Amino acid sequence: MGELGVGRPTKRRAGSAVGGLPVADPRPVFDGAAVLGTRCAACGYPSAQQGPPWCPVCYGELAAERFAVTGAVWSSTVVAIPVGTRKPPFGLAYLDLDDGPRVLVRLAEAEVLAPGTRLAITGTDDGDLVAGKVAGKVAS
Ligand SMILES: [Zn+2]
Repeated sequence: MGELGVGRPTKRRAGSAVGGLPVADPRPVFDGAAVLGTRCAACGYPSAQQGPPWCPVCYGELAAERFAVTGAVWSSTVVAIPVGTRKPPFGLAYLDLDDGPRVLVRLAEAEVLAPGTRLAITGTDDGDLVAGKVAGKVAS
């Protein structure tokens, strides 16, 4: 028996780090003060995706936008298995930014948060947005 998976076909692309084609990083970009993205000029749809060619809702023109770093938890979980270099346990949440899209963030504390819990993005860790709790109203 060889090493698990060696010699088997894979759909994974290796990426430019190992000589393959570059693979787009889909994670939102935080510049220290805002989450960068786009907003549709026609329908107002916000997106934290980098460089979409048109609005995914109405195909309208997009304008660059800076979104607030604060928002409310839509859902969260604690991951109990290692993922890449991440050691468990660590928390993940979908955060509805106050004036923008829903983004995936890593939590400063590994705990499940009630929907509506107020969070603020404080930085990034290896490209992932990191957010922690802030004082504020919890939606019921
Ligand atoms: Zn639109």
